[in-house]
Amino acid sequence: MAVNLTEAQVAEVVAKVVKELVTSAPVAKTGWDSTQYNGRRLVGIYDKMEDAIAAAEKGYKAIRSMTVAEREKLITSIREYCRAEADVMAALGVAETKMGRVDHKIAKHKLVADKTPGTEDIVAEAKTGDCGLTLTERAPFGVVGAITPSTNPSETVICNSMGMIAAGNGVVFNPHPGAIATSNYAVDLVNRAVHAVGGPEVLVASVAKPTLESADIMYKHPSIKLLVCTGGPGVVRAVLSSGKKAIGAGAGNPPVIVDDTADIEKAAKDIIDGCTFDNNLPCIAEKEVFVFNGVADRLISGMLKNGCILLTREQADALAKVVLVEKTDPKTGKVKHIVNRDCVGRDCRVILEKIGIKVGPEIRCAIAEVPFEHLFVQEELMMPILGIVRVRDIDEAIELACKAEHGNRHTAHMHSKNIDNLSRFAKAVETTIFVKNAPSYAGIGFGGEGHTTFTIAGPTGEGITSAKSFTRLRRCVMADSFRII
Ligand code: NAD
Repeated sequence: MAVNLTEAQVAEVVAKVVKELVTSAPVAKTGWDSTQYNGRRLVGIYDKMEDAIAAAEKGYKAIRSMTVAEREKLITSIREYCRAEADVMAALGVAETKMGRVDHKIAKHKLVADKTPGTEDIVAEAKTGDCGLTLTERAPFGVVGAITPSTNPSETVICNSMGMIAAGNGVVFNPHPGAIATSNYAVDLVNRAVHAVGGPEVLVASVAKPTLESADIMYKHPSIKLLVCTGGPGVVRAVLSSGKKAIGAGAGNPPVIVDDTADIEKAAKDIIDGCTFDNNLPCIAEKEVFVFNGVADRLISGMLKNGCILLTREQADALAKVVLVEKTDPKTGKVKHIVNRDCVGRDCRVILEKIGIKVGPEIRCAIAEVPFEHLFVQEELMMPILGIVRVRDIDEAIELACKAEHGNRHTAHMHSKNIDNLSRFAKAVETTIFVKNAPSYAGIGFGGEGHTTFTIAGPTGEGITSAKSFTRLRRCVMADSFRII
């Protein structure tokens, strides 16, 4: 990983942030205060969604008169602030949501700072011909309404802000209520960074207490011209039914195939590194493995050398009953499985304790050989638990992996040196991201080429979103002139 903190260093960062939080009275009395940090009032946070939208609109109007170079300065400043305060946001995120790992969250913030595209992403197109010149430019929408998740809260707020501001927009967030202090800290950071280099005081805004009602006001407000939603299926569906232009970045359940040509030792390490990154919170992280029978034992023994514990089938079944809760849909009578929020993003040690298994902190992932129908394969758990299914050959591997992906078209992974097998799976699974022979995070620019994002828009097709995803195309035609040949 790019950031490798010792346990002592992580503890020091957490202690510093927690001390700052508890010295501010409202936090100590009322839990998480989303309007101030360490006694400092956060900029851009409003009680009413309408006021947040008005503030972001004012900010948007202010940056309309800026040059692209001036706008790029805003982005550079956000990068610097994000790097400088990565440790605070990482510790705050873990403390508030009780999910993920501080060292990995620091790495995620630095990735956002370094690899989120800025104004260079906005490129105009020119067409010339007998009839003259036609120019197509990428214009801002105005004010973007964004829904952000609890799993990468400040990372998503900052990454979204950078792309949306680079495109010339203002932004209003309705962040996940479970990560509101962390998300609003990030909103304030963006505003501080922007104002420090000549931008408006408020360019991105949020609410103190986000609810489904505040989200609804955002969807319907005439000033909101684009909605961008990063979250689970429910919220993506809600945003896509809003009647407005919307970008939806929804759930995944990324399968991994390991065939008999793969470097098995490396595959075992890569899969566990990716699966345990931030305790499996990233939507791109490895969620279930399909391995050829002939190499399955070697893969499992490689995983055991990389901080895993192998559960028996009985233990796996007992754990499934704890990490997932059964819920009957009142309309259809069908039983659904909902992830237990007390387990999402937790350390493996903490999850295993719930079924009476005690392990040390060196155990970072629980693996289990299970049949295809098992909940460890079918459900998006977002915790360091990995179901492993043995398969006969590439045909069976592709068939089952595609089924386990559930048509999300999100992310899939494969470890192989057989280009035919790699190509066949990539074509069949049709995911937005396909990672070959690397941990999942290579797919968002961590040890892989290409820019980063924390909003991977599979359902609406923008893919690995960046500034240009948040623009609208405008055409200007000059007939019969402006050709130079
Ligand atoms: P979530 O779906 O529980 O919540 C996301 C946000 O939507 C929250 O602010 C929540 O309060 C709000 N919300 C939920 N239902 C709503 C509705 N009907 N109307 C308005 N707002 C609503 O998300 P989470 O648990 O924080 O994140 C995990 C999920 O998000 C996973 O499924 C994960 O795969 C997905 N995710 C996807 C991406 C991506 O880029 N595709 C990135 C991160 C997370």
